[in-house]
Amino acid sequence: MTAGRYAPSPSGDLHVGNLRTAVLAWLFARSTSRPLLLRYEDLDASRTVTGSDRRQREDLEAVGISFDAEPLYQSQRSRVYDDAVAQLRQRGLVYECFCTRREIQEAPRAPHAPPGAYPGTCRQLSPDQRRRRAAQRRPALRLRAEVDEYTVTDRLLGQITAAVDDVVLVRNDGTAAYNLAAVVDDQLTGVDQVVRADDLADSAPRQAYLRELLYGAEAARAVEYAHVPLVVNAEGRRLAKRDGAVTLEQLAEQQVTAEQVRDRLLVSLGLPPGPLPQALEAFDPAALPAEPWVWSL
Ligand SMILES: [Zn+2]
Repeated sequence: MTAGRYAPSPSGDLHVGNLRTAVLAWLFARSTSRPLLLRYEDLDASRTVTGSDRRQREDLEAVGISFDAEPLYQSQRSRVYDDAVAQLRQRGLVYECFCTRREIQEAPRAPHAPPGAYPGTCRQLSPDQRRRRAAQRRPALRLRAEVDEYTVTDRLLGQITAAVDDVVLVRNDGTAAYNLAAVVDDQLTGVDQVVRADDLADSAPRQAYLRELLYGAEAARAVEYAHVPLVVNAEGRRLAKRDGAVTLEQLAEQQVTAEQVRDRLLVSLGLPPGPLPQALEAFDPAALPAEPWVWSL
């Protein structure tokens, strides 16, 4: 099995930056004869906006992106995530973490630890300490990582080496955490090509490490990554909903059609405007612009 994927959070309409990444996911998948899968990362119920899954899919189709299977919803897959955690737990690779966000921020950490990395506070709790803390707070589950860093190879960025810390596997409300769910779903749906925005490049090594732990080194090595440049606003910051007309619906109000948006995205990638299959013929990953693309209407 082999596949590419596009995995949005259904938390509102997609903007042109999301659509550009999706076009790239489609181009990378099609140019390597992989099916493209759609996966909704809807584990955080508080962020999910009802109906935005359907609207996102309609917008993706409006710019010419088709998928090869019915979409997957992470919120319906807790069984497979539980199985993965049980497997890790059996091997002694899971521990309970009682820290609040604030405690993690304020804990002393190693001098070269990356910002936000977990300082390991709960790694060595005694049974007694654990009992005491469990009476006050429901724990999250963390991975007992056995490496400090891990390296993956990216089609566009070359080697990416980044810190691997004790990532959260299950949040303290009981839902699977982002890294675990992404890794399990990628593996179980045959995804071996990950195309996404380059602000996620640093999470690739820890996800690959988790994939190696769960499914073996060969499965981890088989994944092709392509972290693509972000779309930014006029100030150079990651494009966001507040940056004016950035969704297809908002752009339609400005008399900009989905086809025109598609064409602008393709031209920004150095590709000919027109239907996606036509752009596919000209697609060359090595010729993609390496700089962020500045969106303006
Ligand atoms: Zn902790």
